[in-house]
Amino acid sequence: MNPEILPADISRRIAALYSEMEKAYDELAQVLRFSCAGCPDNCCDSYFQHHTYAEWAYLWEGLQQLGEERRERFIEKAGEYVRQSEAMLARDERPNLMCPLNENGLCALYPHRLMICRLHGVPSAMTRPDGKRLEFPGCFRCQEMLAGREDIPRLDRTKMYQTLVEIEMDWLGPKRRILPKVRMTLADMMVKGPPGFNFCG
Ligand code: SF4
Ligand code: SF4
Repeated sequence: MNPEILPADISRRIAALYSEMEKAYDELAQVLRFSCAGCPDNCCDSYFQHHTYAEWAYLWEGLQQLGEERRERFIEKAGEYVRQSEAMLARDERPNLMCPLNENGLCALYPHRLMICRLHGVPSAMTRPDGKRLEFPGCFRCQEMLAGREDIPRLDRTKMYQTLVEIEMDWLGPKRRILPKVRMTLADMMVKGPPGFNFCG
């Protein structure tokens, strides 16, 4: 049996937060009459970095549920992603490489996919702790669909981000202050293995 990566209550809280995100996304998509059906693109080649140990560990919970052979194959693809993306970044290009978990156009780890995979698509906004409001326009297709509209409804990410930070703080406790900041692509997280520190103390 694989060693536990996250305490069960933290894992449950992440799953609950992810499902809230999905619900909010679906509700707004319904209001906008927007869906991915028939999209000529696949936004799983968008370049994103992620910032919490909690999401990193939860992704690994999902990877550990895969058979070893399949998991190793995905990790190999992740290694290739890291090599190619570093080369592109060195040339000042923004990587547009397919996510190593995308398998024949579908997410191989759908229930464990990261927050941004759940929110990208529809227009959204968030208010930062300093009060500054940030707006995200949604994917190119949603932008095209809403072009010229002024009263665009947005998914509010603020509470979701706050909840994720609370989960991270509750899990890491005082260690959070001394641990290095996370700034990793999903491929980096896969290549590096699960966050490897002892949380018993
Ligand atoms: S989120 Fe937008 S770009 Fe991505 S698959 Fe859906 S419609 Fe296409
Ligand atoms: S984790 Fe899944 S949904 Fe997210 S980019 Fe990769 S394949 Fe796409």
